[in-house]
Amino acid sequence: MSVHGIGMTSQRARTRMLENLKAQGIADPLVLAAMNAIPRHLFLEESIQQRAYDDTPLPIGQGQTISSPYIVARSCELACRGQMLERVLEIGGGCGYQAAVLSRLAKEVLSLERIAKLIGKARQTLRELRINNVVMKNVDGTFGYQAAAPFDAIVVAAAMPYVPEELKQQLKPGGRLVAPVGAGESQRLIMVEADGEGGFKEQELEAVKFVPLLSGVS
Ligand code: SAH
Repeated sequence: MSVHGIGMTSQRARTRMLENLKAQGIADPLVLAAMNAIPRHLFLEESIQQRAYDDTPLPIGQGQTISSPYIVARSCELACRGQMLERVLEIGGGCGYQAAVLSRLAKEVLSLERIAKLIGKARQTLRELRINNVVMKNVDGTFGYQAAAPFDAIVVAAAMPYVPEELKQQLKPGGRLVAPVGAGESQRLIMVEADGEGGFKEQELEAVKFVPLLSGVS
């Protein structure tokens, strides 16, 4: 297929993806615009690019998966509260797709990924798309990144057994953390909001299925 051909196909597919997202309840215009702007297929291997805009998770190598468009949009919508943010932390950067979406919703995105091979590829894709406000670091992100805290939002893309106190402490007042919590089949999306007085409001949302958070770097 010619480059032009892929471009046309992807724009049509992306429009369809947007319709699906709206039908599933995604309403934040900033999030919808970000999802429309980022070419999801360019973050995937060529052999699966034609499925990039289907509402499904897909493999990104190293036994990891990119979340479905709905889950990416939902996490961003919950984290961003309808506003443009200053600084966002992502834990589990993978292929860089969600970081690219977040790059349209915040001035700075810090994305932590424990697998070096995934970072190499992700950085290359982000560079090709001229996305300059995402920094990816090859570290274990379990406890966030204190040196760059506080964050307006923290988005976790791998299932945690619980939300560590250290992570909550890295939120700005009013800031939100969105994370899949639980093991195996019994994960739920959790949203934590810092109330600005040192306390946290926690809400349990829908059932989800993410790859597990692992410790260490490889
Ligand atoms: N947001 C990613 C989704 C990647 S899947 C995307 O858009 O592609 C989750 C990722 O979390 C995997 O790449 C996995 O390697 C990473 N991960 C798991 N445990 C981690 C940890 N402790 N620190 C940083 N990254 C981790």
